[in-house]
Amino acid sequence: MDCGAEREPASIWRCECGGLLDVVTTGVEITRAELDRRARSRKKPYNSGVWLYKELVHPLVRDDLIVTRPEGNTNIYTHAMVSEFAGIAKLSMKHEGENPTGSFKDRGMTVGISEARRLGHKAVGCASTGNTSASLASYAALCGMRSVVFIPSGEIAYGKLAQAMAFGARVLQIKGNFDDAMRIVQEACGRLGLYLLNSINPWRIEGQKSIAFELIQQLRWKPPDWVIVPAGNLGNTSAIGKALVELRDLALIEHLPRLAAVQAEGANPFYSMWKEGLERPPTLAKPETLASAIRIGNPVSWKRAMRAIKATNGVVEQVSDQEIMDAKAVIDSSGIGCEPASAASLAGAKRLRERGIISSDDSVVCILTGNILKDPGATVDYHTGKINGIEPRYKNAPVEVPPDIESVTKALR
Ligand SMILES: *Cc1c(COP(=O)(O)O)cnc(C)c1O
Repeated sequence: MDCGAEREPASIWRCECGGLLDVVTTGVEITRAELDRRARSRKKPYNSGVWLYKELVHPLVRDDLIVTRPEGNTNIYTHAMVSEFAGIAKLSMKHEGENPTGSFKDRGMTVGISEARRLGHKAVGCASTGNTSASLASYAALCGMRSVVFIPSGEIAYGKLAQAMAFGARVLQIKGNFDDAMRIVQEACGRLGLYLLNSINPWRIEGQKSIAFELIQQLRWKPPDWVIVPAGNLGNTSAIGKALVELRDLALIEHLPRLAAVQAEGANPFYSMWKEGLERPPTLAKPETLASAIRIGNPVSWKRAMRAIKATNGVVEQVSDQEIMDAKAVIDSSGIGCEPASAASLAGAKRLRERGIISSDDSVVCILTGNILKDPGATVDYHTGKINGIEPRYKNAPVEVPPDIESVTKALR
C-alpha cells in the first residue's frame, strides 16, 4: 500500500518496504443469483459465511486445505428498546458474536489459517487483546498446527484467555500493553519462522470482508444507509470498507452505504487523525478503555482504514466508556447481549444521530463484534456499581435475601 510494488501471494505479511500489503483479486465474475443459489444449497465449503464468497476472499486455496468450523451465517436483530435508545427507527444489529469462537475474528482466521496451510507452515502466532488469540488457538488446533499467542499481561478478558489456554495455544503474557505485544510478535515471528496471523496479515482482512458480503446478501442486496463498526486495530473497518467497494464494482449493489468507525475516547488515535486532518494517527502510549478489545494506541491498519472511510464517504466517531457501558446494558437487557467493545457501535450510532449526521429515517446496521460471555467481569461490575467513574444507569444488581418466604415476598413486591 506504500511503495506500489506487486507480487504473487507468498510467506510474507509485510511488504519489503515495511508497508502494509493489500490483496488485489482480478478477473472475478460472480452474480447475485449464483451467491443466492449457494446460500440455499449449504454445500461445503459454501456452508461457511466466509467461503460462500470464495472468489472474493481467497480463490487460490484448494477446497481440501480449507480449515472451517464453519463461520458466519450470523443473525440480524432489531429491538424497539435499542432503536429508541439511539433515536433511529430503522436500526438493526448484525451479531458477529455468533461465530464459532464468539467473535468476528473467526472470519479472518479461517482464511489466514488456510493460507498458512497452503504455504506449508506448521506454526502460527499473533498478538491479541483476546479474541484473535481465542480464534487462532481454535483454528490451529483443528488442523494440528502449533500456535503461540502474545497477550498483554492482565489486560485481557477472562473468557478470551480461557479459550486460548483451553484450545492449547502457547500463551505468552507480555509485561506491557497490546502495542508492545504487537511489536514483539512481529520480531518473534520473523526470527522463529512462525506465520503471523494478526490483522496486519492481508488474508485476515480478506476473510473479514465477508461480514459486509453476508450482510448485504441477507438484506436481499439492498444496502443500508450506514454500517457502524467498533474500531481498534482497524482491521475490520478496512475489511468492511474494502468489501463494500468491491460489491459496488461488481455491480452487486447499486449504492455504497456510509461506513462509521467508532473508537473509545481513551483509545482514539484514528479519531484524532480524522478530526484534526493529520497525516497519520498519533501514537498513544497508554490507551485506556473498559472495552479491552479496542484498547489500542497504535493501530496497524490505519492506512487501509482511512482508504475505507474515504471511499465510502464515511466518518470516524468517539464515545466515552460511560456511553459504551450504557449502550451495552441496553443491548443486553433487550435479550441480545454483547461484549463491551461491540456496544461502541450502538453508542456511536446514538452520538451520530444526536449530531445530525445520521438522520432519523436512515437505515443503520451496527456490527456487534463479540459475544456477551467474553467479558463477564465487565457486566457484573457494571450492574453492581463497582466500576470507578461509571454510573450504572441501567443497573440490575442481584438482591440478597434470607431463605424465608416473607423476605422473598418483600423483595419481589
Ligand atoms: C478485534 C475486536 C474489535 C476491534 O476490531 P479491529 O479490527 O481491531 O478494529 C472490536 N470488537 C471486538 C469484540 C473484537 O474482538
